[in-house]
Amino acid sequence: MSTTRLSRLLAAAAVGLAATFTAFVATAPPAAADGCYTWSTTLREGSSGDAVARLQIRVAGWVTYDEVLVVDGVYGARTTAAVKRFQSAYGLTPDGIAGSQTFNMIYALQDDDCSPIHFTFAEVSYNCGRGGFSGGAVSATQVRENLLRAMWKAEALRHKLGDRPIGVSSGFRDYTCNASVGGASNSRHLYGDALDLVPGPSLCDMARTARYTGFNGIFGPGYPDHNDHTHVDSGPNRAWSAPNCGI
Ligand code: ZN
Repeated sequence: MSTTRLSRLLAAAAVGLAATFTAFVATAPPAAADGCYTWSTTLREGSSGDAVARLQIRVAGWVTYDEVLVVDGVYGARTTAAVKRFQSAYGLTPDGIAGSQTFNMIYALQDDDCSPIHFTFAEVSYNCGRGGFSGGAVSATQVRENLLRAMWKAEALRHKLGDRPIGVSSGFRDYTCNASVGGASNSRHLYGDALDLVPGPSLCDMARTARYTGFNGIFGPGYPDHNDHTHVDSGPNRAWSAPNCGI
């Protein structure tokens, strides 16, 4: 049997099942299917696994000052706190439990390629016009994953700053591109976990709020060569400098 035919049969069966359950179960878990990923069960403190990791990526920008949420697939107290902040920020009941209200909000905030709706893989992998995810310091798969995580933090930053558009002047850069723009030889842009953000919100507002949004690296106005953008990254070294912003 072809995969296509199997898919059609499964889809038809799913529609029938959904209709049956909808009739009898008023509080069913999220019925919505999503083009990126569909969570199949409610997650809460104590849950673990890949579904938790996918949730953590999407709430990693909802941390407190100088906190980085580890994406480890373990739903602990910090994940609960991040989910609560996410829920509050989007007008949901802040119970710290990821159920249908939370998942449906995430579905509304993401595109079918799993990027958040206000950022695109195309813009964060412009790469001096060459595009793609190859030729950096880690595999293309890892670069893409790092960019995804960076975009979700940027989406949180955007929402915290009043949903004003934020531009990305540079994201992933391969070695050739990085050298041509004068990037540091160990730039986090080579890993895909760095974004250079441009207004929208002021450079200082972005730098200041980034401290509450899970970014380990923040460089902005007053730091050499950073007067026309605010750099944020999720590299292993915690380093912040934006002297003109009091950072
Ligand atoms: Zn940068």
